[in-house]
Amino acid sequence: MTNEELWKAALGEIELSISKANFKTWFKNTAILSNKDGNIVIGVPNGFAKEWLENKYKIFILRAIRNIQEDLKTVSCVISLSTPDSQPEHSVDAVIPAKKPISPVFKTQKISEMGQESNLNPKYTFENFVVGGSNELAKAACYAVSQNLGKIYNPLFIYGGVGLGKTHLLQSIGNEILKINPQSQIKYITSERFTNDLIESIKTQKIDEFKEYYRRIDLLIIDDVQFLSGKEKTQEEFFHIFNYLYQLNKQIVLSSDRAPKAIPTLEERLRSRFEGGMIADVSRPDFETRIAILQKKASSEGISIEDKAIEYIAQNITNNIRELEGALNRVAVSAQLSKQTINEAYATSLLSEIISSGKRKGLNHKHIIKVICDFYDIKPDDLVMKNRKQEVAKPRQIAMYLMRTELQYSYPGIGEKMGKRDHTTAIHAFEKINQLIESDKKLAEDINHLREQLNFVN
Ligand code: ADP
Ligand code: MG
Repeated sequence: MTNEELWKAALGEIELSISKANFKTWFKNTAILSNKDGNIVIGVPNGFAKEWLENKYKIFILRAIRNIQEDLKTVSCVISLSTPDSQPEHSVDAVIPAKKPISPVFKTQKISEMGQESNLNPKYTFENFVVGGSNELAKAACYAVSQNLGKIYNPLFIYGGVGLGKTHLLQSIGNEILKINPQSQIKYITSERFTNDLIESIKTQKIDEFKEYYRRIDLLIIDDVQFLSGKEKTQEEFFHIFNYLYQLNKQIVLSSDRAPKAIPTLEERLRSRFEGGMIADVSRPDFETRIAILQKKASSEGISIEDKAIEYIAQNITNNIRELEGALNRVAVSAQLSKQTINEAYATSLLSEIISSGKRKGLNHKHIIKVICDFYDIKPDDLVMKNRKQEVAKPRQIAMYLMRTELQYSYPGIGEKMGKRDHTTAIHAFEKINQLIESDKKLAEDINHLREQLNFVN
């Protein structure tokens, strides 16, 4: 089979597993440049395609090629200017007749509509944000920014785990400012959306319009910037936009699931920019804060619930606030249907199931094993069973690590699932990986990627 035939077959399969727009955007004008000893090099037209293929689509590429060529070991991408012309018949255009890039995001018309597009959800306000030890610094910083736009903390960087109130706080700043001055130009956007728009504007040569659009903003809120990790080219462009806005004294507020220094492969310039302003974290709320949040929510939504039932929920749902709200909603909805008052017994009977498992829906250790084996190209038996080969040792530790972080399995439980190993092995594995992630960027990226893959399984 020639490289062209191999790639064409692989593309046929990849096309089925990702969205059409993504397929067209990222796989267009790509080709296999070399295939030696199971190491395949793919030529791509530019840095963006390289990043996206390597970060987001690698697992699809590996899987597709491996179905055809079993000895596949690695896939890497290089920027190659000659790919489009070298094989007109088998380029992606031959598979999907797509000549134009997908619809440009920044049409002039869209820019003039700005102002109607802050993306703020009015339900997120400082008034309904409950303050406790876990979030008081972050709340104070956000509030201060809303009263002194662009003047005191710039940028403001809020970080913490999922469901702990970052988006709520960020949007509260915007809503507060609108309250003071409804004419303010505010933009809330996730980093993924922002970078997609940015890339699109570069592709369609509308970067000046893009900049112009953002130049008119008083407050730019970018949520979840950890997604910039690993996308060098994107980061570079982001850095320029960032500096540009910063110099114009525009207020920038960012959030992330971890501190700037812990975001793997964040470009140094960007990291020091992020660190140049104010950084505050949100952490898991303590018991009193959880109670206060439940009470506030129950009263604002007219849910009648006994104190004991609130205590039961606060005692048992401790991970994050989103889950806390979810639990309250769940009992409230059922109670309404069955016309019950919510007391402790009722809450217990309804929630015992989610509380005892406390896991993400449907995800179990088999999914983790599968995703890891696909990614590292090893057999599940080799991963799980006693096998001292060095190549499986690390993936095995990662498997145990993810069982802990993603499924909250106990250490003995993890040992059991991983070929009846001792719980101390599981502890060691967890600690080892937990520590390595800090220094080994490649590993941190792999793990991010595996986590993403876990969102797709089921
Ligand atoms: P994150 O962005 O950190 O993942 P969110 O801001 O989306 O978390 O918060 C999850 C849910 O919990 C939202 O519905 C939010 O309104 C609510 N929430 C978070 N923190 C608080 C708080 N301190 N007081 C009241 N509600 C909160
Ligand atoms: Mg959020």
